[in-house]
Amino acid sequence: MPAAGQPPCRRCLLSETDPEGLYRQIRTRIELLTDEERTAPEEYAQRLAHCTRCDALRSGLCSICGCFAELRAARREQHCPHEQHFW
Ligand code: SF4
Repeated sequence: MPAAGQPPCRRCLLSETDPEGLYRQIRTRIELLTDEERTAPEEYAQRLAHCTRCDALRSGLCSICGCFAELRAARREQHCPHEQHFW
């Protein structure tokens, strides 16, 4: 997350803005998903590619659903909440 007083980073994933703090917790939560729950690596990369081109992404958070984009994309049964359903 951006430091206090800094504007949110548009189209940044959490891995790019907070590699040692909150992102580590998100990575741990992703690693705890079972193989059945977790999105396949290629699909995961495609989902995040959509997020990084999306105006709704703010410092790793999807401003439509409020989820961390990397965690939401990692859950196979989840979908993009945008009206255009990017993934
Ligand atoms: S609307 Fe979809 S593509 Fe955009 S940041 Fe949210 S989850 Fe990602």
